[in-house]
Amino acid sequence: MTKETCEEAIVALQKLLSEKSELKAVAAAKVRQLTAELVGARQNVAVKSVSDPVEMIRAGFDHFKKEKYQKDPALYSKLAVGQSPKFLVFACSDSRVCPSHILNFQPGEAFVVRNIANMVPPFDKTKYSGVGAAIEYAVLHLKVENILVIGHSCCGGIKGLMSIPSDGTTKRVRVETECKNLSLEEQCSQLEKEAVNVSLGNLFSYPFVREAVVKKTLLLKGAHYDFVKGSFELWDLDSTLSPSITFRL
Ligand SMILES: [Zn+2]
Repeated sequence: MTKETCEEAIVALQKLLSEKSELKAVAAAKVRQLTAELVGARQNVAVKSVSDPVEMIRAGFDHFKKEKYQKDPALYSKLAVGQSPKFLVFACSDSRVCPSHILNFQPGEAFVVRNIANMVPPFDKTKYSGVGAAIEYAVLHLKVENILVIGHSCCGGIKGLMSIPSDGTTKRVRVETECKNLSLEEQCSQLEKEAVNVSLGNLFSYPFVREAVVKKTLLLKGAHYDFVKGSFELWDLDSTLSPSITFRL
C-alpha cells in the first residue's frame, strides 16, 4: 500500500466513524490488532537481520561508512597518511569491554592489544613475541605517551584462575589472605585489579618501556571497568603516590 492510499484509507475510516459512531469501539480494537501485527513484523525483520552474520557485517559497515567515515573526511584523509596514537591499551578479549566503545577512542587514538584477562607477559625475546612486538612498535615507533591496562568486572579469565588450585606463589594468595572475609565475587574483583598491577609490573621488564618511563615520556596506568556498577576506576603505576580516581557518570 502506498503512502497516499494508506492516508486515504485513514480518511475513509475517520469519515465512516464520524457517520457511524457506534462502530468506534470495533474500529479501535481492529486498529490496535493491526498495530500489534505491524510491530511484530518489524521486530521479525530486525531479529532476522541480527541472526544473519553477513547481513550484520554489511549493515555494520554501512552504518560506519554513512555515520562516521563520510561525515569526517578530514580525519580519514589524515589517517590515510599515518597514525600517531597517544595510547597503547591492553584490554580483555571479552565482548563487553571494547575500549573504543567504553572510552570513546576514535580511529587513530589508541593502539590496542586484547587477550584473555588483559595480560601483559614479562619481557622475553623468544616467548610472547606477539605482545612484545606490539609493545615495542607502540613505544619505539609510534611513541605512545601512555600505556593503559584495563581489567574488568566478571572477567572469565580471572574466574578461571580462581577455580584452579593455588600453588601458593602468586598474588592470588595475597588476595585470598587479605580478602578471605569477602565473597567470591569481591575476591575476583580484587584479583582483577591485582592482575592489572602484575601487568604494569611486567611492563617494567621491557627495557624500552622502563627507559621511557624514567625519561618521563611514557606514563603507565591501570584501570578497572565495572559494567555491573557502570564505573571506571583509574590509577597510576604507583597508587601509593596518587590514589585512584573512580568515574561514575
Ligand atoms: Zn576478561
